[in-house]
Amino acid sequence: MSYFVILGSGESGTGAALLAKRLGGDVFVSDKGPIKDQYKAELDAAGILWEEGQHSMDKILAADEVIKSPGIPEKTEVMKAIRAKGIPVIGEIELAWRHAGRCTIVAITGSNGKTTTTNLVHHLLSHAGLNVRMGGNVGYSFARYVAEDLANTTLPTQASNLVYVLEVSSFQLDDTDRFRPHIGMLLNITPDHLDRYDYEMANYVSSKFRIARNQKRGDLFITNADDPNIQHYLKAHPDAVHCKVEQVRARDLRGSYVRIGLQHAFDLSNTNLKGPHNAFNAACAARAALRLGVSPEHIVEALYSFAPPPHRLEKVGVVDGVTWINDSKATNVDSVFYALQAMDAPTVWIVGGQDKGNDYSPLSEWVRQKVKAIVCMGLDNAKIRAFFGPLGKPMVETHSAEEAVRQAAALSEPGDMVLLSPACASFDLFKNYEHRGQLFREAVERLMTNT
Ligand code: ADP
Repeated sequence: MSYFVILGSGESGTGAALLAKRLGGDVFVSDKGPIKDQYKAELDAAGILWEEGQHSMDKILAADEVIKSPGIPEKTEVMKAIRAKGIPVIGEIELAWRHAGRCTIVAITGSNGKTTTTNLVHHLLSHAGLNVRMGGNVGYSFARYVAEDLANTTLPTQASNLVYVLEVSSFQLDDTDRFRPHIGMLLNITPDHLDRYDYEMANYVSSKFRIARNQKRGDLFITNADDPNIQHYLKAHPDAVHCKVEQVRARDLRGSYVRIGLQHAFDLSNTNLKGPHNAFNAACAARAALRLGVSPEHIVEALYSFAPPPHRLEKVGVVDGVTWINDSKATNVDSVFYALQAMDAPTVWIVGGQDKGNDYSPLSEWVRQKVKAIVCMGLDNAKIRAFFGPLGKPMVETHSAEEAVRQAAALSEPGDMVLLSPACASFDLFKNYEHRGQLFREAVERLMTNT
């Protein structure tokens, strides 16, 4: 019997532990931090031993195989010791893939747009009646689904008509080996997480390309024809992809039109998909759906009914003629670039948080064109003030979502938009980006009830 050690016990670690147990292994879960109560209860119920707040090296180094959560960097002491002993290490996605059976896999990666596009592909396929599940880096882990299927002996498990739509981060890709999606999607590559890649962009780019490296004839790789990092890599590595490649030209997506199949040019302006970046996401999602046999008519219908996931250019409401938009998930400069581009009225921009070494220069032109006032929302707003101050826009300093919303309301007038799109991480004032978006939403809702 194999002895599996699972490092880290979030959704992915717990899913991996449940699957490893289901496979008949001896399983031990070790997390240096605290484990959430809900996961402890699941591990206990499955008879899986666990520890939190420490790594017991004697137990860990006895493993036949280690399954590592994506959040754990290679430079930690525990990983160095595991590598030194030569114990095989894989991630949860790889483990699940090896046992998922004859289903179809659509895997989506990129620096920005993964969750939106994963939701979109899921929506297009389920609208057309396909048997589809969404997971990976969003929602349930892939391994959890596979474990549940293996447990349910009455189901036609590992059904060949089942489609998984998986969001896959670069950290998850790093721990894959043979993982081979039938449809792989690489949306874009902009600098992010470089601390995990020795501050080398090339390392991050090749990590993203792991999505395609095991694809073979009959598979499909969908990517971005206008992304310089992707195009440069493809030129420098002509052998990087061995299956059909479809390149979507982001710059060809005029306004809000998106081409679906040969005949359909579909206008997104009456949908919830705002901005050229979402037209690009929709074009990629539509190609995946077409490939899986969905008709252009079904795709068009489903695009109308799609609601983007929360905190991504999400319309919170209209108060006194001002439209409030929550884009709290915009934690880097690139996503704000697209958010500002999508604004079609004078905009009060709420920005700031924990700076990740940002270079704000790509935003200057959009700020000049679209932004009427800037509300800084962070513990330390000095860098934002120094960079955007010279543009001469009214600028105020705030330290909470409540205060930011009040100031933004004072600076806006009917017909304007207020956009929370911070370009920074949230951890200075909030628990995470969801918490930041939620407090913003609640403050806007209070404005509504006060009017
Ligand atoms: P991810 O899961 O990759 O973080 P999300 O779908 O959660 O991506 O979106 C994160 C942020 O990026 C949001 O602010 C969103 O508006 C923006 N965004 C979405 N799609 C794209 C894209 N194709 N290019 C650039 N930014 C995007």
